[in-house]
Amino acid sequence: MLDADFFRRWMTATAASVDREAERLTDLDSPIGDADHGSNLQRGFAAVTVTLEKEAPDTPGAVLTLAGRQLISTVGGASGPLYGTLLRRTGKALGDAAEVTDEQFTDALRTGVDAVMALGGAAPGDKTMIDALVPAVDALAESFAAAKSAAEEGAVATTPLQARKGRASYLGERSIGHQDPGATSSALLIAALVEAAGE
Ligand code: ADP
Ligand code: MG
Repeated sequence: MLDADFFRRWMTATAASVDREAERLTDLDSPIGDADHGSNLQRGFAAVTVTLEKEAPDTPGAVLTLAGRQLISTVGGASGPLYGTLLRRTGKALGDAAEVTDEQFTDALRTGVDAVMALGGAAPGDKTMIDALVPAVDALAESFAAAKSAAEEGAVATTPLQARKGRASYLGERSIGHQDPGATSSALLIAALVEAAGE
C-alpha cells in the first residue's frame, strides 16, 4: 500500500532530481524553446517541497492536490499548469483514502494524464511530456521500474519527431532532431517513483 509519506517522498525525490538536472533541462529547452524549462521546474518543485513540509497533508490525495496547486501558482511557463493539472487531478482521483493500492494509483495517474491531454490538446507523437507519460502509465501496472524505463524510452523517442504542440511547434521541421525537454522532465518525475519506493 502507498501512504502519504510515499507520495511526499515522490515529490521530494522529484525536486532533488529536477535540481540536479536543471541545467540539462534548460539546455534541451534552448534550441526548441526559450531556455527556461529547468529553472521553471526547479522553482516549482522547490516550492512544492516547502509547502508539503509546512502544511503536512496526511493523505495521498491531499499531498498530490497540494503539490499540483503549488506548481500552478509558482511556474509561469506552459509546464506549470500542465504538471499542476497532472498532480492535482491524480490527487483528486485518489480521494481521501489514507492508503492506496498500486492499482488505484495507476488508475489515478491515468486520469491525471488524460486531464493533461484535455488541457493541452496534445496526443502521443506530438513531441511533448505526453510521449513519456502515456507509456509510463501503460507500464505502471507491471512495476515502477518498468514505468521508469518506458518514460525514459518515450523521452528519447521524441528526438526524431516534429513538435505539434507548445513553443517548439513554432519551429516546424526545425524542431526535428532535438529531445523534448518536457518529456525529459516527465521521465525524471516517473523515475522518482522508484526512489520513493526505495527500490
Ligand atoms: P514554456 O514552453 O512556456 O517555456 P516550459 O519550457 O516550462 O514552458 O515547458 C515546455 C514543455 O512543456 C515542452 O517541452 C512540452 O513537453 C510541454 N508542453 C508544451 N505545450 C504542451 C501541450 N500543449 N501539451 C503537453 N505538453 C506541452
Ligand atoms: Mg520554455
